[in-house]
Amino acid sequence: MADSYVINEWFFSLQGEGVRAGTPNLFLRFSGCNQTCSLESHGFDCDTEFVSGRKLTADEIIAELKQCAPECEWVILTGGEPALQLDEYLILKLKEAGYRLAIETNGSVELPEGLDWITVSPKVAEHAIRQRTADEVKYVRGYGQAIPKTVVQAEHKLISPAASGDSIDPKTLQWCIGLVQNNPEWRLSCQQHKFWSIR
Ligand code: SF4
Repeated sequence: MADSYVINEWFFSLQGEGVRAGTPNLFLRFSGCNQTCSLESHGFDCDTEFVSGRKLTADEIIAELKQCAPECEWVILTGGEPALQLDEYLILKLKEAGYRLAIETNGSVELPEGLDWITVSPKVAEHAIRQRTADEVKYVRGYGQAIPKTVVQAEHKLISPAASGDSIDPKTLQWCIGLVQNNPEWRLSCQQHKFWSIR
């Protein structure tokens, strides 16, 4: 049980990606990450600021979430890499507060029990993936990158075209469409919140 968690930000919006796209969610972004994704290493540059943060207890987190969107049922735990700080205590407290919990993780740390929806978006080599079960697995793909051979067991397998800021290079999009057409167990998932001009 941690005394506090370092939280980068929280806000209310729609999920823009994956199978749950279009649903209202509170986003709780944890500070810190154990990866440094770049064009050279991963085919895209990380555009998420995860260094800054505020220390909050579980009760303070819940109070902020309740104030942000009192009616919202779902919280998406994201980052940075949320699994670096998430523990069973925070999950329990959020559940007691009535929330359903989704997480977006890079898969490098095995998750605690009690989550309602797991999205693994691997940013490490397959052998280094520790969270190997999920509801959905999502790979970012740049132009020329092959379909993944994933070790993650998931009902839904998603290809997300690498974005540059708020746009996707048409060549990259066409490449990813081709990947899905040739591998129909996968489906396309774009960062639609960017097209909707929301966070
Ligand atoms: S794992 Fe995610 S948050 Fe961490 S550096 Fe990569 S893209 Fe950014």
